[in-house]
Amino acid sequence: MRWFRRHGRDLPWRRTRDPYRILVSEFMLQQTQVGRVEGYYARFLDRYPDIQALAGAPPAAVRESWAGLGYYRRAANLHRLAREVVRDRGGVLPSEPEELRTLPGVGPYTAGAVATFAFERRTAAVDTNVARVIRRAFHPRLAPSGSRRVWDTAALLVPRAGSAAWTFNQAIMELGALVCTARVARCGECPVRTACATGRRTR
Ligand code: SF4
Repeated sequence: MRWFRRHGRDLPWRRTRDPYRILVSEFMLQQTQVGRVEGYYARFLDRYPDIQALAGAPPAAVRESWAGLGYYRRAANLHRLAREVVRDRGGVLPSEPEELRTLPGVGPYTAGAVATFAFERRTAAVDTNVARVIRRAFHPRLAPSGSRRVWDTAALLVPRAGSAAWTFNQAIMELGALVCTARVARCGECPVRTACATGRRTR
């Protein structure tokens, strides 16, 4: 967490706790790199500044705002979600991961991410970056099918206090994006090396 405070990137969705804005960022970041999302994110929020504005937009306009980001199903799901939340929940997104998961297009990762990044809930949010760090650090020999184990370990690691949970989840995600990457594990510059099963074996 200390490493993250010094080296974490200053990203627009890290400057807010607005659940709608966090939700939009998480939908956009599914299968798309941070660098590409930043510009689209700002434009999308200019056009649809809150969940009511998105819910009231015609589907073709939402699709057009998403043009260039690809995977349009994400836009369709986000739009359906906005309509459902405005219609059934007075425009208020739920804060618990279990409830978030009942919404269109929200899987376990997105539910955890919105719960912790918007509401500072003590919950895990395991995306591919986090899963890679946890596997290398704690379960270097775990079979690819062992994702339940990875989630269980992630849940044990999350600090109890809400703001610390936010920082921890951002930090481990950032570690996977910048240091413990899919291409190379930069163990020599890693802040958790002494606690990591893979890092301890690396010279
Ligand atoms: S020590 Fe190496 S393998 Fe372990 S988390 Fe850091 S970069 Fe990844």
